[in-house]
Amino acid sequence: MAAGLILATLVGMETWMAPRVPTLPGAGRPLAIYDSARRSVQPVRPGPAGATMYVCGITPYDATHLGHAATMITFDLAVRMWRDAGVAVSYVQNVTDIDDPLLERAVRDGEDWIVLGMRETALFREDMEALRIVPPQAYVGAVESIPLIAARVAALLSDGAAYRMADGTGDVYFDVAAAPRFGYVSGLAGAEMLALSAERGGDPQRPGKRDPLDPLLWRGAREGEPAWEGGPLGPGRPGWHIECATIALDRLGETIDIQGGGNDLLFPHHECSAAHAERLTGLAPFASHYVHAGMIGLAGEKMSKSKGNLAFVSRLRADGLDPMALRLALMAEHYRADREWTDELRKQGEQRLARWRAAVAAPAGPPAADLLAGLRDRLADDLDTPGALALVDGWAEAALTGAGVGSGSGSGGDPAAPGLVRSAVDALLGVRL
Ligand code: ZN
Repeated sequence: MAAGLILATLVGMETWMAPRVPTLPGAGRPLAIYDSARRSVQPVRPGPAGATMYVCGITPYDATHLGHAATMITFDLAVRMWRDAGVAVSYVQNVTDIDDPLLERAVRDGEDWIVLGMRETALFREDMEALRIVPPQAYVGAVESIPLIAARVAALLSDGAAYRMADGTGDVYFDVAAAPRFGYVSGLAGAEMLALSAERGGDPQRPGKRDPLDPLLWRGAREGEPAWEGGPLGPGRPGWHIECATIALDRLGETIDIQGGGNDLLFPHHECSAAHAERLTGLAPFASHYVHAGMIGLAGEKMSKSKGNLAFVSRLRADGLDPMALRLALMAEHYRADREWTDELRKQGEQRLARWRAAVAAPAGPPAADLLAGLRDRLADDLDTPGALALVDGWAEAALTGAGVGSGSGSGGDPAAPGLVRSAVDALLGVRL
């Protein structure tokens, strides 16, 4: 038995507190959203049991930064659209609570990796509550899922889709030759895949692999690293792509409607997760929609731990930024766009929030039924938040200047309109005014 073998699995993850989502009058719209694999906006067609969505969650070695927030807001909007349309939603998110980056950070800081992971996961939950993100039904840790993951890896081994390294490490890799569709999610050529694999946690240069792109399924126990019983695999810990494939299959079924994450997960993570799932089930595509949110940059660079240029949600909150203004700032451009976080964007978010709040505080305003219909239309079309925000801006402008309320006095207009706008913005955009 390897040193540091952990016999008991840790307790399951708790999700965060759900915001109250108002119910709106009239009918919601069916959602269409961009599928990276087909490279086009396509309608989502949930089955009779409702929509299924799996979003790749955090590796909790650091606090929630604005890139995480933008990604979580994107999928929150999808949840809100489905709820508005009366579609039941099964939403699962994972926490990669054991992986190399977490262990590396814990070693660097001389901290216990479990304590580090628990602290950052707790902070993430707090940030999600502040941002009024509707929580997933299941928030699932990698560690609690290890027995299921090990069983999936063993199944791939006995199926001939995986192999054990001959170097005595106990490491097991997936054979990409066992996935004839490999590459369809990202649409990338071999050279691009190799470059991204090296950049994003893969090990294309490792000798002894059948194909440089073969992803790790199980890492055999190493001295000084935590390890778990893996049955026929021997002690070790799971790879990241099989973690997500396993949790999604276990919690949501053999195929799902949306597999989501930031666009840095397109390759290799979502490509490999899909390849694993499809080999395990024999069904393709694993997800009808692979949906990717843009990166949030800072001073011209993608926000990432390796560049050390992270803007943390918790820090911005502590600096007095209203989380609702933060939401508006991150929704000001389309979710798929890589974009910049700037002081100007922050200021615009704060000003917009203040204007909207002033507009709904009036005793009456311009009739808002058209605004509600417009909001639904814009968001149903690939979550067009810039279009949606512009519509609310227009209504708020009219409300504040007295345009469209008849006589122009505060007593003119529709007394039900401010309340309807407040509810619509809350339910569909997640912004409480
Ligand atoms: Zn994932």
